[in-house]
Amino acid sequence: ALTAGIVGLPNVGKSTLFNAITQAGAESANYPFCTIDPNVGIVEVPDYRLGKLTELVKPKKTIPTAFEFTDIAGIVKGASQGEGLGNQFLSHIRQVDAICHVVRCFQDENITHVSGTVDPISDIETINLELILADLETVAKRSQRVEKMARQKDKEAVAEFEVLSKIKLALEDEKPARSIEFTEEQMKLVKGLHLLTSKPILYVANVGEDELLQADENPNVLKVKEFAKNESAEVIVISAKVESEIAELDGEEKEMFLEELGISESGLDQLIRATYQLLGLATYFTAGEQEVRAWTFIKGIKAPQAAGIIHTDFERGFIRAETVSYTDLVDTGSMAAARDKGKVRLEGKEYLVKDGDVIHFRFNV
Ligand code: GDP
Repeated sequence: ALTAGIVGLPNVGKSTLFNAITQAGAESANYPFCTIDPNVGIVEVPDYRLGKLTELVKPKKTIPTAFEFTDIAGIVKGASQGEGLGNQFLSHIRQVDAICHVVRCFQDENITHVSGTVDPISDIETINLELILADLETVAKRSQRVEKMARQKDKEAVAEFEVLSKIKLALEDEKPARSIEFTEEQMKLVKGLHLLTSKPILYVANVGEDELLQADENPNVLKVKEFAKNESAEVIVISAKVESEIAELDGEEKEMFLEELGISESGLDQLIRATYQLLGLATYFTAGEQEVRAWTFIKGIKAPQAAGIIHTDFERGFIRAETVSYTDLVDTGSMAAARDKGKVRLEGKEYLVKDGDVIHFRFNV
């Protein structure tokens, strides 16, 4: 399963946010594929479509889909040189599929900032530099191996050496590998390098609990947004402290609290949805009388693989995917009506599953 790592300097609010994530707590029994590990928090993906489908189908139960956040504690300056628990942290980052970079935007004299003042851009650059240095090392090691073969005119080696040189130039210019444009062929080579700076990233601006409503005027938030814009990265504004309070509430209580705060959706829910997108994940639904359920898939997979997410037998014996889009189903009002109006398609093995598909798999046992 894909996971997003929560990264940031010490004392920026990572643990507070991660606690909110584990508190909000998904029922892990529903998600046997998820990792059981204290550093992993399972979150359910908020999706209004699931509520709508439940109203329509009136199943016995409704199960949202979920994915994982991994807490990557305390990276510090010098990590790439083994400072702190440096290399260990970097190897944890290597294992995640996307990065949520938490940045301190709150002022609080009682809480020490590692470099003395609250300066979000300098914080971002400190971490990014460690990741860049680690990648430079990866690239140097690989280049050493490939260069010899490239000199002997080995075609593949020549191509790879070219890619490595391109990455090296960008990194030396303090640019992340994700900012470089590659051809599809080159992209395959880049993937094999597992670079830290090629992972998709978003920034989490952690503001004080009393600053949530005026976040758009918060100079630190504005700086983070400006920085992120240059990287085409998203910024989610949250107050980790408020999130940890919200996470203790459920249903109605939560809604009332959000109303009091004057916001329509909690920062954590926004973060969850943005991270889901960042990981390249999407949702299809199954809707029967027993159960209406959301399932996570990686964008770009075909119907049999999507069936395999439910059960390997579904993939092995796949015949067809009876498919209707969420919108068509809601517009027509029921599965039977959707069928009457010709909105239900019988899709085969080559069908690329789309976000919002409501699917009934037909398979041989
Ligand atoms: P970490 O080192 O990045 O994991 O940071 P923590 O989550 O442990 O937070 C460090 C300190 O900052 C703790 O005392 C938190 O209570 C505090 N903190 C986190 N978020 C906020 C916030 O939004 N406002 C204020 N005032 N304090 C916060």
